[in-house]
Amino acid sequence: MKREPKVPVDAKVLVNQYVSQCELLRRACIGFDEGNDVEALNIALRLRVLLHDTGNSKSLLGQLQIKDRLPYVDTLRAEMPEPVISIGSGLCLIEATLGPGSSGSRYKAPLAAEDPYRQHPPQAFVDWWREHLLASNSGKSVSRADFVLWLTNEAGGAHVDPSHEPAHLELSSGGFDGLQVVSDNEVDHNLLYPTVRQIAYELETSLSNSVAFEEGEIVLVDPICSLPIDSKLKLGRNDQCPCGSGKKYKLCFLKRRPRRKISIEELYAEMDAAV
Ligand SMILES: [Zn+2]
Repeated sequence: MKREPKVPVDAKVLVNQYVSQCELLRRACIGFDEGNDVEALNIALRLRVLLHDTGNSKSLLGQLQIKDRLPYVDTLRAEMPEPVISIGSGLCLIEATLGPGSSGSRYKAPLAAEDPYRQHPPQAFVDWWREHLLASNSGKSVSRADFVLWLTNEAGGAHVDPSHEPAHLELSSGGFDGLQVVSDNEVDHNLLYPTVRQIAYELETSLSNSVAFEEGEIVLVDPICSLPIDSKLKLGRNDQCPCGSGKKYKLCFLKRRPRRKISIEELYAEMDAAV
């Protein structure tokens, strides 16, 4: 049977699909927060639909032409200098229950926790999606993209793959990152599910901060420069930014700052100030 050629949809259809995907993401997050851990697979699928571009499929935010200009909220815990042990693992924190009959420790999505070490300037998509969140025991650098695509493409969000990446297997089982897991509950060991929940929190916050509807169209309030933060550019401060925003270089690319890093002196000073 011969397939008919496809017909492009108009912008209004895309906007309706955006609203539907955001609603599905929101429902999956509510389900997850109510204790249905497998909703993490639905969360990952919605993140993939909204954000991930491949040779064959285009992300919805890309089709709406907002993906590369949306300022992405970044809640990764700032890098702590040695010998401080960071209480957390990438986007998650570790919750420990003490005392007899306790369920031990588990990873948890902090959502809007007021942790000052999780507050950074917003990021451009490419920096945020591929940002180093943590290293696996074998040394692989793991990003937001890895977490989302493992759950959709290997673990059943969109497809069950008969083989998994080693870092995926390692991070979805207990004992990662020196954490002694004493719980009998498999899901509690899982770093992947709370991590994609936190990525969804970041995306939902980014969208609600920046997306507005004007005459049925999506517009961005105060978009970010879409060039990667480590771009090597030789430009005058008053030249046009090459990202295509129409803004001057000094008001676009140069306004972005790298993620916060804290020195040991600053850390101790802040800890002293907190008591
Ligand atoms: Zn720019």
